Amino acid sequence: MKCYQCPKPAMYLVTEKKIPLCLSCYSQFTQNMQAELEGHERMLNYLSDQIAFKVGVPPMGPRFPPRPKPAQISGVKLNNINVSNSVVGTINTGVIGSVDQTISALIQLGEPSLAEAIKTLTEAVVGSGDLDQNQKNELIEILGAVATEAATPKEERKNLVAKTLLDRAAQITALANDITDVCQKWWPVFAAAFQMVKG
Ligand SMILES: [Zn+2]
Repeated sequence: MKCYQCPKPAMYLVTEKKIPLCLSCYSQFTQNMQAELEGHERMLNYLSDQIAFKVGVPPMGPRFPPRPKPAQISGVKLNNINVSNSVVGTINTGVIGSVDQTISALIQLGEPSLAEAIKTLTEAVVGSGDLDQNQKNELIEILGAVATEAATPKEERKNLVAKTLLDRAAQITALANDITDVCQKWWPVFAAAFQMVKG
């Protein structure tokens, strides 16, 4: 069955009319539905405030909580890395975007622990209060470069380059006391991907 909106194969049936949609059209469809729902939630919150105001009592009872913002930083959409605009500051978001894509690639390659290492370290670095912007940018660049190496086949990995970069990264993060635990846990996972193949 084809998608109602485009030539791709359908994966979902939506509305009571059972309209077939493909994955990307379905994703767009649900986004629109969520936006509509959010509008209703805001209106209900407003109405209950309005009632409380009219009755002259403070607003009470359950309200719809604000919805979490989608992980989209400065126009770059992130599927894996969870960081907010408020902590990103002047960090190069293009580089974070490509680190994020590499994480997706590693998951597809069946390297979940490497993907997790990169995700966790990136989030820790971006959120650290002990690192300055330059250090963060350098670390994200290193994470990106090493992640790309990790996503290439074992025989083709530039182990020495990766190790040198990882050493440098570990030196910088050693200055950040607020992320020591994360670094002690995840840098070794990362480094293990670049064990020299003994011939
Ligand atoms: Zn479609």
